[in-house]
Formats: sequence, structure tokens, C-alpha cells
Amino acid sequence: MNGAAHDQTMATPTGQIKQFALESGASVVGIADPCAWDEHVPEGHRPYDILPDARSVVVVGSRGPTAGAWRSPQHRLMEVNGYDFRNDAAIHKVANLIESRFDHQAIQAPGLPTGGHLPPMSMMLAAVLAGLGTRSLAANIILNPKYGLLYYSACITTLELQHDHMLEQDVCPHPMCVKTYQRFGKTPCLAACPADEGGCLDGSIDEQGRIDYSLFDRERCVTRSMNFGINSFQVAMAEIVAESDPETQQNMVNSDFFSRSCSAITHYKESVAQCFECMRVCPIGRAERKLK
Ligand code: SF4
Ligand code: SF4
Repeated sequence: MNGAAHDQTMATPTGQIKQFALESGASVVGIADPCAWDEHVPEGHRPYDILPDARSVVVVGSRGPTAGAWRSPQHRLMEVNGYDFRNDAAIHKVANLIESRFDHQAIQAPGLPTGGHLPPMSMMLAAVLAGLGTRSLAANIILNPKYGLLYYSACITTLELQHDHMLEQDVCPHPMCVKTYQRFGKTPCLAACPADEGGCLDGSIDEQGRIDYSLFDRERCVTRSMNFGINSFQVAMAEIVAESDPETQQNMVNSDFFSRSCSAITHYKESVAQCFECMRVCPIGRAERKLK
């Protein structure tokens, strides 16, 4: 944004909120119409079920790993520095701004479960409806056309803002992936984690170069990409408590597995994602990571 266009945009609440979100750590920001959820989710999961009279949903996307982290030959470093909650911090500031400057209610959209295992709102769907990305063949990750993998948070508000449209063009598959698929029957992500060889992904691309079919074995992916976290702590704790031999029990408490499980729940960071291999080979966003 610059010049007259910038001034005009900044004169509106929509422009001010978007600019503020970018200054607060978001790489991208979009605004969705709460009614856009109607055709995708059941009652109870729509923005206005969470905040009555919701008029807008502000969605931010932030980058996780830095270009250097993607480049490191030590892939497992991504387990501990792949994600920094920047999107959550940015959306919290946006919610505060809406309430303090614009005198309207705002609430962070619940992207984590309040009961059971499913969150009340999908941040993936929020990102799509706000025009920030589209679903990919790689674990259904929502890819942004400029940055590829992003982490999303959203804020529901009673403030009427200008809504963005969904992207008209699919981000995935990249033209290079279409060519690779036509030649070898696999895209880079499908080749990185093939379901027929013990991996999690399968899919096909039609003659128009669009996703025709996709399979994501989420349970299998979780066992590979989220080894440490609440679940591993619960499993380890049950085994430790049941162990009758004091020496074995002591070794279990001091083990690498239990230590990392404790670390994951106390910092709540290692549990976010420990495998980026399908994204590592994805060409979307690669240009943004090309630094000296
Ligand atoms: S995150 Fe890892 S395990 Fe999961 S689909 Fe991607 S490559 Fe496979
Ligand atoms: S590598 Fe990326 S762009 Fe290509 S098919 Fe997989 S997710 Fe889509």
C-alpha cells in the first residue's frame, strides 16, 4: 500500500485493522463473512454461534520456520523452532484494538478444543474463507500463494468490515507439480510420504491440472509428526505409574522420551509439529525462502 491508495485504505477501519495486524506479526490478513461458514459447518461451529451478532472474522497467517531453519540439514531442529505463536499474539492484539479503538466486541476464534478432540472452529476453513489460501495435496495444509505453509488464527467481531473473497485460483498443485505428476504419477509431496509405502499421502490430478482425489491418513501422520505432547505424556505417565520395579521406574522417569514429553507440555511447542517433510519439497513459497 502506498500514496493515495494507502491513505484511502487507512481511513477505513478495515484498512487500519489490516495494517495493524501486519505490524503485529501477521504475514497475511484477510476478512471473512461469518455467513460464509453456513454451507460448510453445522450449527454450533459458525462464528455467530460463538459471538452473537458477529459481522466479520479477521484471519491472520504467520510464518513459522525461518528461511535458515528450512535450509538446515538437521531437519529435527524444526521440532523446536518451527513455530512461535506469532499468529496467536497478532490476533490477540487485533481483538484488543477492535474493542479499544472501534468500540465493538471481539473474541479470538477457538482453534483449540474446549471439550473432546475437535476445536469449535477450524482455522483452516477460516483461512480459505478469508481468501488467504487453498487446500493442498500435502496433508490438506492450506497453502498461501506467496508464502506456502502458514499458521492461522482468527478473531470474530461484531464490527462490520469489508469482506474478502475466497481465492479464485487453486494454489495447489503448482504447475511444476502437475508436470511431475503427468510424468511420474506423483507430485513432490506425494513422493515424500506415499501412503502405499507406509506414508500418509495419496492423490491424483485431473486433466485440467486440479486436485481430483486426495487421501491424508491423519492418524498415521500424527504418530510421526506429533510424537511428544499431551498424548505421549499421558501414555508415559500411565506406564511409569504401573511399573513395579523401582529401578526401571526411575529410568523411565529420566528417559529421553519422558523428558521430551514433559518439555512438550510445559512449553507446548514441540507438540505442534515435528515433521515438515511434505512441505520441505513443496515449491509454493520457496521463492520467499531464497535468501543469501
Ligand atoms: S507431516 Fe510428515 S508424516 Fe505428515 S503427511 Fe507430511 S510428510 Fe507425512
Ligand atoms: S508439492 Fe505442494 S504444490 Fe505440489 S502438489 Fe504437493 S502440496 Fe501441492
